[in-house]
Amino acid sequence: MVENVEKIQSNTFSQMDNSIKAKDRIIAWPRMGRIDIPLKALLVSLGAKVIIPPYNSNEALEIGVKNSIEGICLPYKLNLANYIMALEKGANTLMMFQAPGSCRLGNYTKMAQKTLKSMGYEFDMVIFDMYKSQMVQTVRAFWHVTRTINPYRYLKGFGLGFLKFFAMDDAEKMLWKIRPREIKRGDAEKCYNKWLDIIDKTNSLWGMCFLFRKMKKDFAKIPIVNKKVPVVYLLGEFFVLLDPYTNQNIEKELGEMGVEVQRQIMFGDWLGNILIPSFMGKRETHRERAVRYAEKYMKRAIGGECIETVGDTVFAARHGVDGVIHLMPFSCMPEIVSQNILSKVSKEEDIPILTLVLDEQTGKAGYMTRIEAFIDLVKRKKDKKVLNKNSKEKKKEMCLE
Ligand code: SF4
Repeated sequence: MVENVEKIQSNTFSQMDNSIKAKDRIIAWPRMGRIDIPLKALLVSLGAKVIIPPYNSNEALEIGVKNSIEGICLPYKLNLANYIMALEKGANTLMMFQAPGSCRLGNYTKMAQKTLKSMGYEFDMVIFDMYKSQMVQTVRAFWHVTRTINPYRYLKGFGLGFLKFFAMDDAEKMLWKIRPREIKRGDAEKCYNKWLDIIDKTNSLWGMCFLFRKMKKDFAKIPIVNKKVPVVYLLGEFFVLLDPYTNQNIEKELGEMGVEVQRQIMFGDWLGNILIPSFMGKRETHRERAVRYAEKYMKRAIGGECIETVGDTVFAARHGVDGVIHLMPFSCMPEIVSQNILSKVSKEEDIPILTLVLDEQTGKAGYMTRIEAFIDLVKRKKDKKVLNKNSKEKKKEMCLE
């Protein structure tokens, strides 16, 4: 038994199961929002066969909960369910990230491997070990599963994957801006879904490069009311932020309440931090900015997105954002730390913050009640600020007269 565990634990991609030939590999990875679009493009360009597990759903959650220990965080349960569903559909190679810091992500892969093996599944797990050099690790992992040596395929695969990530980020940002201002409810969402489909189907680098401008023009055609709306930052743990099933579609709910959502953690931003070496970009990354702004409240990153949560909240408060919603999975260690720091940040930086803890027990009605009450508070605070500003300006004008 001990031997088996050690064998599994040492199974990073450099020492993986080579018995599956590259041409027989059918690759799958966990669901997280629409991460399937760029990853599929990348892997298919490298000549791989892929299986995309179904969207996260109550069924997936049930499978994950049934096969996980109770106290483990929600993203693990859904990831495990994604693997099971993909293996059932014929996948034989699973991909996953492993991260440093005091976060359970470092153990996810080993735990999932052990559980899946004990359930009788035969597969190879490819681990992107973020403890090591990230870009080199990533390329090596893709080489391991595809055995492609053609540099054009890598260029096309990575180019397409990156451009699709960035295009999806742009589409999301336009959706958040337009949704609270649209005249006909649903127009922005329709346009967004249409462009997600186009991004998914565009398979040439050339086509992807031209897509950005066309997409922007299309969004600009949506009839809107030009009005000031409250701006709320969504922050917290990466997975719950990016997976609409897990966060109960909070972006849509807020948009339909007339709130402009802004999220600092984006797929493209993650690529910038993880894959692009620092010598390739002089621009301050999101993480570097977060560390700078969090300085007064925490001195170092402790894993997960803890420091981004604190730093982004301070940034929001100092840049006129009206409120912050902090999302975290139940029992997420890094976000428990940031939750405790955020109450101090809220007082000292004068910004309303709502923390929402998500797990399989989270009911929609209670969740929405808390969000609605918070948005009422944010709107009232914003109106008060505008009134104060107007009366100050009036007084100033009277003095000048
Ligand atoms: S950040 Fe939190 S929820 Fe995410 S893997 Fe780590 S401990 Fe789990």
